Amino acid sequence: MAKPAKPLTYNATLLEREDLTSQLSIFKIRPDEPIPANSFVPGQYVTLGMNNERVPDLGSVRRPMSIVSAPEERDVMEFYIRYVSYPESDNPLTHLLWETKAANRLFLRDRAVGKFTIRDTVGDDDPRLRVCVAAGTGLAPFVSMVRSIHLRDPRADLGQYAILHGASYPAELGYREELDSLKASGLHYMTSISRPAESPDWRGDSGRVEDYFMPERLKELDERLGLGAGGLRPDRAAILICGLQGTIGRIIERLIPRGFVPENRKLRRALEVPEDVPSSLFFEQYDNTPVIDVKDPEVIEPLREQLHAALAEA
Ligand SMILES: Cc1cc2nc3c(=O)[nH]c(=O)nc-3n(C[C@H](O)[C@H](O)[C@H](O)COP(=O)(O)OP(=O)(O)OC[C@H]3O[C@@H](n4cnc5c(N)ncnc54)[C@H](O)[C@@H]3O)c2cc1C
Repeated sequence: MAKPAKPLTYNATLLEREDLTSQLSIFKIRPDEPIPANSFVPGQYVTLGMNNERVPDLGSVRRPMSIVSAPEERDVMEFYIRYVSYPESDNPLTHLLWETKAANRLFLRDRAVGKFTIRDTVGDDDPRLRVCVAAGTGLAPFVSMVRSIHLRDPRADLGQYAILHGASYPAELGYREELDSLKASGLHYMTSISRPAESPDWRGDSGRVEDYFMPERLKELDERLGLGAGGLRPDRAAILICGLQGTIGRIIERLIPRGFVPENRKLRRALEVPEDVPSSLFFEQYDNTPVIDVKDPEVIEPLREQLHAALAEA
């Protein structure tokens, strides 16, 4: 068995925990050291950690967590975290986090990292629509992005952002009020729940968030994003996806016929994308399963054909 990780020295305090459901919570954490100005870029993540006090032999555990708060919020860092019922490790962080309450101490790495930022994906000056797609807690980076713009200038136009959020139940659509209110600033905000039968009062969209991209629903999505029929294409929009493998893989498959190229070395190589064709679909993945099985010719060959047909047409 691997040696347990060394105990962590705690350097932050849990200020508040908001439980949206028994398995989904917002954690507001204050680092002991004030958060310096511009210490991170929306879309980045930090490592959160805890020692297993109940079973000290298990040692400590750290996991990356996307930052929900904006860099302009200088005294608190916010996280949107799901309890993992069937973890892979024997010392899962979410199980320790679920035992915490306000005033408890934890470890928060002081350096934010990650390249799932506007700067490192589409580029800050890119004028295209930024279609941000999130399943569950994958919403975190996108809240940080639009919140930051709004905090810097409450009159800023958010029309360049579309946030599509999917969850199982309405109660799991975290940040709904905040994002609903940002529609007044131009934000396109769409929500979908995948278990509508269990929420009879729900009048919104149903299905998983990746289902917005099903071939038979793409036309409707074009219109709802204000792009006009067939308009969701790499010359008009860039796609950012955050969440687990299933969501990311399905959206890539469904957008390849529209000519979207995923930013991933292995995928680009398997799809034989010419070097001069820029990526137009970016993703941040919370689990480890390959988003698309590039080794399976039955999967990759039709995708390659569809992509090359779309690139030839463009
Ligand atoms: C860059 C990055 C940013 C992340 N940001 C967040 C975040 O903002 N919020 C968050 O809840 N998680 C986030 N995660 C996932 C997080 O790091 C942990 O993997 C997760 O909390 C499970 O850790 P654990 O120790 O409890 O379970 P482990 O024993 O490590 O179990 C891992 C299992 O948990 C599943 N899993 C991981 N994340 C989720 C999730 N969000 N929802 C459902 N199942 C999941 C995986 O499929 C995997 O099978 C992020 C991961 C990465 C790589």
